[in-house]
Amino acid sequence: MNNYSIFQKIIKKEISANILYQDKIVTVFDDIKPKAPIHILIIPNNLIKTANDINKKNKDIIAHMFYIAVQTAKEKKISQDGYKIIINCNKHGGQEINYLHMHLLGGAKLKTLY
Ligand code: AMP
Repeated sequence: MNNYSIFQKIIKKEISANILYQDKIVTVFDDIKPKAPIHILIIPNNLIKTANDINKKNKDIIAHMFYIAVQTAKEKKISQDGYKIIINCNKHGGQEINYLHMHLLGGAKLKTLY
């Protein structure tokens, strides 16, 4: 399913989203259906479909995504109380959009899976 074009359109500002930050490497925006008081997505500007597609060539992008996620948590003032950063991969991981994204979730005590 090629639903990754939704996120490509958000990056190009062809469909509306609440973009919080954008640089040459990543785009950060509010999740349309928040599962926590703060629910933000961090995506690479160039398509990487799943975590399985991280490789030697593009792995530095992931470090930048992580760095920006933490910076965003600090800006949203949730870093002291804490937060989750989640990447879902494929069917069993619950990935619905086939475009690699980090979920930054916080603003309340969140349930854990384990
Ligand atoms: P995942 O299940 O990990 O693939 O998560 C996909 C996320 O993208 C879900 O939390 C959706 O609510 C979110 N989402 C889908 N479409 C949009 C959109 N147009 N703008 C913002 N978030 C979206």
